[in-house]
Amino acid sequence: MEPVFSPSVHRQRHQFVIDFVKRNKPKKVVDLGCSECALLKNLKFCRDIELLVGVDVDGAKIKKRMHDLAPISTDYLQPGYDQLCIELYQGSVTQKDTRLRGFDLVSSIELIEHLHLADVELFSGVVFGYMTPAAVIISTPNSEFNPLFPGPAGFRHSDHKFEWTRAEFQTWALKVCLKYGYEVEFTGVGQAPPGQQERVGFCSQIGVFHRLGAGGHCNRFFGDDADDVLSYTLLYSIKYPSLQDNNILRRVLVSEVVYWAEKLKRGWMEERTGEMNGAFTLCHTEEAEESVCEGHMDMEEKQTDLSEDGGGVLTKGQEQQESCTSPRYVSVPLAVLWACCPKVSVLGGSLSNLRHLLMDDPGVKLSQDGSAVLVYNQEQDQEEEEDHDHCDLEDSGYAGANQCSHSAVEEEDWEAV
Ligand code: SAH
Repeated sequence: MEPVFSPSVHRQRHQFVIDFVKRNKPKKVVDLGCSECALLKNLKFCRDIELLVGVDVDGAKIKKRMHDLAPISTDYLQPGYDQLCIELYQGSVTQKDTRLRGFDLVSSIELIEHLHLADVELFSGVVFGYMTPAAVIISTPNSEFNPLFPGPAGFRHSDHKFEWTRAEFQTWALKVCLKYGYEVEFTGVGQAPPGQQERVGFCSQIGVFHRLGAGGHCNRFFGDDADDVLSYTLLYSIKYPSLQDNNILRRVLVSEVVYWAEKLKRGWMEERTGEMNGAFTLCHTEEAEESVCEGHMDMEEKQTDLSEDGGGVLTKGQEQQESCTSPRYVSVPLAVLWACCPKVSVLGGSLSNLRHLLMDDPGVKLSQDGSAVLVYNQEQDQEEEEDHDHCDLEDSGYAGANQCSHSAVEEEDWEAV
């Protein structure tokens, strides 16, 4: 009976690496023989990885789908704290390249059987002897499983140079361990049909190697750069946006501050209008609006800041002398923003750091002492416009009418020219 794998054995191999990464949380991972980057595309979602590298001798294969590794719009709109850099190289695993040293994990999935045996020796020296990663996952076909496939006997792929039995793979792996100071566990993916597992083993056999004395996933320190080599060609490199980048942190923080300051201002202005109409509005049930009330209580005694352009500034809880006019700016204290918006406090770190980050940003206007955000009050412009319209309509004298139609006359003159 022909073995049917669900999910496909190709997927199971990749899932094996993903599960290993989830358990062990390596920071620097390289996939050798990455082909069209299918495994890398899944690994980029493992948030502990900071450097994800792919290498393949066939540059055309890499280039085919490499742009799928680029950040998507949400990565820019909602960047996380994690840092991720992805690099893709064209190069052969039989050659050394300094940039691949000191990784936490190397995966080599269905690659070694594409190498001539002499190159497998070089591969062993490059990976275990030169790159010296903390862990290595190597998968390769198990030839004992092949009789279960239908059709004539032979290798599974026309480019395979060999396919090993379990004993052959284990002999090679144990030799490598002895020579380079690793230990290995054998497993696999693609279960044989019931009753045959012990006899034929897994469809793909896997060796999981750990460097002796590596202790988790610590990198080995490379002090000696005597054989510093750059034999690979960098085809693609992308850095994901991260809140650890100060410019990105500031951009996200500013948009959050602007949003919340505007929201608080609107709440206060509505409340103020209600009070002026003799209908004092109590807080609604929303958490944010409760915070607005708390802010109000905190700020009752606060002094008004003066804006640089001499326009009126309203601080919440303060009595306006001219109660019929709206202020040009509404002052929203940073302390209130801090209390109302958890994201602002998380991103800011501390109140003084928040002030520092906002200080020189053109996206926000701070009060002179830097303790509050001044939110421009558009309603005031509208009120002024309305007052103006109102005035025009009520003016019945010739001079007033003449004034009002001034611009229309000018337009007519222009057309006449
Ligand atoms: N690891 C992938 C692809 C396996 S096919 C997967 O799991 O789907 C083997 C890949 O190894 C091919 O993409 C081939 O181009 C690459 N390869 C073959 N010889 C190589 C070498 N010497 N160095 C690097 N990559 C090699």
